[in-house]
Amino acid sequence: MTHDAHQKVKASHLKRTAYLYVRQSTLRQVLENTESTQRQYALKQHAVSLGWPLDRIVVIDTDLGQSGASAADREGFKRLVTEVSLGRAGIVLGLEVSRLARNSMDWHRLLEICALSDTLILDEDGVYDPAHFNDRLLLGLKGTMSEAELHVLRARLQGGIRNKARRGELFIRPPMGFVYATEGKMEIDPDQQVQQAVRLLFETFRRTGSAMAVVKYFADQELKFPRRVHTGPSQGEVTWAGLEHSRVLRILHNPRYAGAFVYGRTHMRKTLDGDYVVQHVPREEWEVLIRQAHAGYIDWDEYEQNQRRLHDNCQAYGADRRRSPPREGPALLQGLLICGRCGKRMTVRYHSRRGHLMPDYVCQREGIEHGEPVCQHIPGAAIDEKVGELLVEALTPVTIDVALAVQGELQTRLEEADRLRQQQVERARYEAELARRRYLRVDPDNRLVADSLEADWNSKLKLVAEAQESCDRQRSEDRKHVDEQQRAAILALSTAFPQLWCDPATPDRERKRMVRLLLEDVTLVREDHHLAVHIRFKGGAQRSEQLPLPQRSWEQRQTKPDVVATIDRLLDHHPYPEIAAKLNEEGLHSGEGLPFTARIVARIQRSYGLASRYDRLRKAGMLTVEEIAKVLGVHPQRVTRWNRAGLLRGLAYNGKNDCLYEPPGDNPPRKAMGVKLSERVAARALATQGAQEVQCEA
Ligand SMILES: [Zn+2]
Repeated sequence: MTHDAHQKVKASHLKRTAYLYVRQSTLRQVLENTESTQRQYALKQHAVSLGWPLDRIVVIDTDLGQSGASAADREGFKRLVTEVSLGRAGIVLGLEVSRLARNSMDWHRLLEICALSDTLILDEDGVYDPAHFNDRLLLGLKGTMSEAELHVLRARLQGGIRNKARRGELFIRPPMGFVYATEGKMEIDPDQQVQQAVRLLFETFRRTGSAMAVVKYFADQELKFPRRVHTGPSQGEVTWAGLEHSRVLRILHNPRYAGAFVYGRTHMRKTLDGDYVVQHVPREEWEVLIRQAHAGYIDWDEYEQNQRRLHDNCQAYGADRRRSPPREGPALLQGLLICGRCGKRMTVRYHSRRGHLMPDYVCQREGIEHGEPVCQHIPGAAIDEKVGELLVEALTPVTIDVALAVQGELQTRLEEADRLRQQQVERARYEAELARRRYLRVDPDNRLVADSLEADWNSKLKLVAEAQESCDRQRSEDRKHVDEQQRAAILALSTAFPQLWCDPATPDRERKRMVRLLLEDVTLVREDHHLAVHIRFKGGAQRSEQLPLPQRSWEQRQTKPDVVATIDRLLDHHPYPEIAAKLNEEGLHSGEGLPFTARIVARIQRSYGLASRYDRLRKAGMLTVEEIAKVLGVHPQRVTRWNRAGLLRGLAYNGKNDCLYEPPGDNPPRKAMGVKLSERVAARALATQGAQEVQCEA
């Protein structure tokens, strides 16, 4: 092999650097499996024997303690690939090289690059040249085997776990309120305080039917809820803290509290960036569900009932409270609003007014989590309208064209600036090179000079790195500009925008999409006398608007002050039905938008504390039926009869024709036996007429 190896290693390889890649997947392996680490470092000797000088063997060990399953966050592996692709590496060393990358894609990419840049690969078995077909085949196989090994290992582990789970014997971290007994069976926590807290949670939910109400109850009563510390020095201890909404939900959803053993409620899935996301699996697909596996806090029926309740609640209030895709409802700014008081995203609620859905914007995340009152609650109709106006006004084709032209101008200037920065980097590099040469030329025995020259060289190298870094950073920031496609989309939108926006046939969802194209977010703060709305457009422009505070719903239903004043005035001369008729004639409406009736007028008079018509008439000296009957010396019934006939002047003070009477004056009507009432009325009318005529003559 050695002979073969020496044949593959050529002078061109030896001129370049050798890279030793050292990796252990977990920190525990790093600490315990020192044997393997030592073997990895021993490869260095192998490289030396092949002809590399010791100082040109670079060890890359930044990935110690990182799993090899993906290259996503392995800095060392990335660096290795970079060095190889730049043609700086003559050979790559690694213990069982295929373990360099446990992911077949990363591995094959490394092989390809090695073949292109004529880089050799060395492991304990020998030297490979990826440019040779045979070697590449072998390396490819090794990679596949390595991946398969990982798969088999995992399958074996998973299989063991599944078998145990099927028997209900798998150790799963006990939820709060449970502990493992010595014989490995789960039981209710003997700690009475913990037990009672959990029981209280379930009882409160039974009583109120809402997780939110449970949080509120615990917060109002200042009750704490236990939680177990899972990491750190006090691992396993129980601490007490306030109860959060998410915790209540987790407990209510957890079937273990109903004494059931479950496995497979969630799935881990890997994303493209190498992150993991947890997905909830529907109940029918749970792998294992063993009811009555151990004692529980509630029975299975109650668990099912709780699930149904929670599901109903969630439909009532909307499942998603984060920034969300546009939905069907008319709230224009749904998902774009930020609370100006606490910085959290606001959510939408709707209420119905006169058959229309009206949006309310609410900041309630904190409130939900800790059972506090909501942070802000603002009716949204006026805000939506204002934002719509602003957009139509801001988005004319002219303004957009100007904006895009300015953008283009800025872009060319940025490129100039970039060239300048690039020159600075070149200059720094040149100076570093000078310093290097000065250092190399000095006699190494002259320590004093050599040391100061070395320090100079180092500081120059640092300057190069800094200049390069600032150049790169600036450049990547400059790149954040509108690309051609976006530009075209914006221009196209702007020409058709106002028509499309105002067209009633445009669905709310489309309108919301347009808003999302144009706006980054909108921040709302309710101030003392107005509503501050801060709008951020895409691209950084900002607008701040002040809107009058939206009226609360009772304010909107209130009778207008001038109507109340009119009623006050009319009450001096008219009873309620007449006032109602007069107001309706003037086209006025009640606060709820209805025509007036005697009853509504009476209610307004009472609730606004206006003096009643009765009081007003009494104040003006009017007499009640009884009083005037006494003055005239007749029965009250006769008074009403005389009033109907017109012998007395009575004024109605309510809608039922109850009257108060003017004092009879000098010539009160008298009982006149034998004369018909109608004749007396005619005589009296004649008499008054006569008196008027006399007055005219005078
Ligand atoms: Zn808030």
